Amino acid sequence: MTDCLFCRIVRGEIPTSIVKEDDELVAISDINPQAPLHALVIPRRHIATLNDLSAGDDALVGRMVRFAAGIAADKGYAERGYRTVLNCNRDAGQSVFHIHLHLLAGRALGWPPG
Ligand code: 5GP
Ligand code: ZN
Repeated sequence: MTDCLFCRIVRGEIPTSIVKEDDELVAISDINPQAPLHALVIPRRHIATLNDLSAGDDALVGRMVRFAAGIAADKGYAERGYRTVLNCNRDAGQSVFHIHLHLLAGRALGWPPG
């Protein structure tokens, strides 16, 4: 998926503020932040939507969640709390079709979401 925006970002072809990275994941600052901390945890491997996950991806998704929790802790939000979100397809407003876990923190977040 050479023309996928997040594939290009993880390959370093588009300048981006990287929050944290390892061999499988890259976390970046969202370009349009919805909270004081708004990061996106992106797998390096292209997976378009949650509907495309298979059992072999279970460890990857678990790793994404713990990666986000680690960032929240590093930034001092573990006790106050934070939200993680995975949007899938139209009704959830998914706009980039390469899965990514939103991490939002630093303000009281409304519930239910809009
Ligand atoms: P979605 O709506 O697909 O769940 O989330 C996509 C997110 O990617 C949005 O929050 C949007 O602001 C963010 N985004 C879109 N294009 C870029 C970009 O070029 N750079 C960064 N850092 N974030 C982006
Ligand atoms: Zn991609």
